Amino acid sequence: MTGARRGCATHAGRAVPGRTPAGVPAAFPSARNTSRTRPDCGHTARENRVTQADFTCASCGFTADADHVGAMNVINRAGLVPCDVA
Ligand SMILES: [Zn+2]
Repeated sequence: MTGARRGCATHAGRAVPGRTPAGVPAAFPSARNTSRTRPDCGHTARENRVTQADFTCASCGFTADADHVGAMNVINRAGLVPCDVA
């Protein structure tokens, strides 16, 4: 079966009805502010996105790769668990 990528951060939110395995609900979380929100403290601000690649929370100082932070926010919103590939 192709297209069965449940639980993978890279493909979270891209599940399409008809392509998901039987019994696995598709998840369509909002992508709004996913690149501007710190997953743990929840601080959301444009200033958190220092550059296209870098994320630094203006509230707590947490720093990480911006794409990784965005993916974690999508995972959290979809109620998924990250896969082991990081
Ligand atoms: Zn923070």
